Amino acid sequence: MTRLRILHHPDPRLRTKATPVESFDVPLGVFAKNLLETMYAAPGIGLAATQVNVHKRVIVVDVSEEKNQPHTLINPTLKTYGNRIKGEEGCLSVPEIYDVVERFEHVDVTAQDIQGNTIEFTAQGMLAICIQHECDHLDGKLFVDYLSSLKRGRITKKLRALSNSRER
Ligand code: ZN
Repeated sequence: MTRLRILHHPDPRLRTKATPVESFDVPLGVFAKNLLETMYAAPGIGLAATQVNVHKRVIVVDVSEEKNQPHTLINPTLKTYGNRIKGEEGCLSVPEIYDVVERFEHVDVTAQDIQGNTIEFTAQGMLAICIQHECDHLDGKLFVDYLSSLKRGRITKKLRALSNSRER
């Protein structure tokens, strides 16, 4: 497997808006597999292509305990509804930071699989939250954007210091 390098906030490349996948070819399948393996290895419950500096609309998620229910979603679109629920979130691109974010309780997902077939399903709970979080990445958005600018400023400063100390 190829483990892909995950970008960290405040890397400006995380702010890129991803473009739709048009060719459902062999390289796409290889990329999706590597993305999933990178997520499991991190370890994480979701990863978007944007986070590994590939600006195509591809996300992978697996919120199961046993790590045996992967979803690979290409060109996902969401219809969110229901109550807004508060949950603590983290992100592989915002290491060691956790904070409470409001998300919709339910989401209707329409996407394509790696062969280009249409997939439709409804998600709730943790899976719904995770899919909303990952789809935000495809639009260049991070969970810290939902926090106050004061909090976000502190987080950005902390991560900058962390990445400087790692590079040294
Ligand atoms: Zn994330």
